[in-house]
Amino acid sequence: MQIKIGLCIPNPGWELVLSQEGLCFETIEKDSEFNLEEFVLVIPNREFVESNRYLFIKYLAKNGLIIVDKETFPILLDIGAHKRNVSYIIPKVGSLFMKFGLVDFYSEFSIPKGNSLLILDEFLDIYEYLDKSGTVVILPFSINELILNKSSVRKRFYAERKELPSEVVSKVSKGKIREIIFQIILQNFLKLKIPLAQKWYYPSGSESVFIFRVDTDFCSAEDAKNLYALCIKYNINATWFVDTKDQRMLPEIYKSFTQHELAIHCENHKVYKSYKENYDNILCAKNKLMKYGVTAKGFAAPFGEWNNNLGKVLEDLDFEYSSEFGLDYDDLPFYPFVEDHFTSVMQIPIHPISVGRLRRAHFNDVEMVNYYKAIIDYDLSQNMPVILYHHPHHRRLNVWEEVFSYIQTKKVWNPTMHEFFKWWKRRNNNSFSYDFSDENIKVISNGDMDFRLLDFQKGSTIVNSNVSHKLDEISFTKKEYLRFNEKKSMRRYHWRDSLNNYEQKKAKKKQ
Ligand SMILES: [Zn+2]
Repeated sequence: MQIKIGLCIPNPGWELVLSQEGLCFETIEKDSEFNLEEFVLVIPNREFVESNRYLFIKYLAKNGLIIVDKETFPILLDIGAHKRNVSYIIPKVGSLFMKFGLVDFYSEFSIPKGNSLLILDEFLDIYEYLDKSGTVVILPFSINELILNKSSVRKRFYAERKELPSEVVSKVSKGKIREIIFQIILQNFLKLKIPLAQKWYYPSGSESVFIFRVDTDFCSAEDAKNLYALCIKYNINATWFVDTKDQRMLPEIYKSFTQHELAIHCENHKVYKSYKENYDNILCAKNKLMKYGVTAKGFAAPFGEWNNNLGKVLEDLDFEYSSEFGLDYDDLPFYPFVEDHFTSVMQIPIHPISVGRLRRAHFNDVEMVNYYKAIIDYDLSQNMPVILYHHPHHRRLNVWEEVFSYIQTKKVWNPTMHEFFKWWKRRNNNSFSYDFSDENIKVISNGDMDFRLLDFQKGSTIVNSNVSHKLDEISFTKKEYLRFNEKKSMRRYHWRDSLNNYEQKKAKKKQ
């Protein structure tokens, strides 16, 4: 039996998340011939259910598993809903989702009315409807709406102290919402008694990745050289997103950083609303680098800002990847959806808190080191990419010296951003199938890639493709997942937020 998930399209938010997780799914188009019974799990959309409700009901009666969100469940289950506006939620203690901490939605929830529903998390309002044989998981929010959201807001980030660092980042916690979805799918596979298979996040032998991003922000030659020397001393690869304003810095300084990657930050330190202004600004930087024989493949916008016009410019100027925490942070790479298509420019989210933001929250050097160590431990505990960034003019090389030696003890893969992009693109393009018959699992893939098998109760394991594995001979290991003790108070208004916003506005005006 082929194990695959069926996704009714259009459903770009879902498509994005399932691709990030590297799951085996097939898209189902409305006017095509399709048979829901080929799938172990189906994710419909409203359009499909409106025109083919009976097919889903039939599928459900044959042990079908369905995940529906707020637009679709009232039609599928013929039940009412009440609405409520949700800014953020901390999942219920003891629930499946508790480990994710504070999740930002800023969205309208539709909560199903019906007393025959099972509660998966009463704070998140995630429910389960059990038919005689099938299951429907009901999400009160819309994955498309949340995952494709483009707005940003100032948020405070967790640390074990009173005053917290803040940054203007993606309003919705897209990374955590992806994890909630993944957790639901994983739990549902338990009903199938089959482990869930996914393309492993990293090349064979790697459990995570450490990427160091540098935004030059008009730093001095000396500051740039000192940071480069420190990276060399600790054997750390980095990607320099350079400003091109001072033409001497390119040939005299950045060009000599031959061990690292050079990419573009800006000519003018600004993200514009219009297409043309963004285009001219970035093209100017691109041409200057070109003059010295550097073809930049990556881009990171000033202030981490992102908008649709910037997205289009990056596509038209043939960038391969970009990195903006205003679009997303602490998450896996993905291709953003702009207007009606997935762009060709991969987004690589980072952890958005820089030394500058920590300093503004009055962290001393020791606290800064501890902050980054905690982020590293947290990300590694769940095999997420560790991607940190720095501005050379903020110096604090003593802090980075400690961070670099800490990361060295973790022995993780340390590519440049472009190397990581190349890997993720290859992973994205790899398609695989997986088969479960006679208690044997076989992942069939044409590329050289590892796969992770996960069992909700037993844990996970990495396997090779094209080899048969007997289910009862697979040894799974359970991993402890660190969690931050995030509190709702992190989202309550604080006067410092206004001060920080005012300071940022002033900084933008100056440039
Ligand atoms: Zn900058």
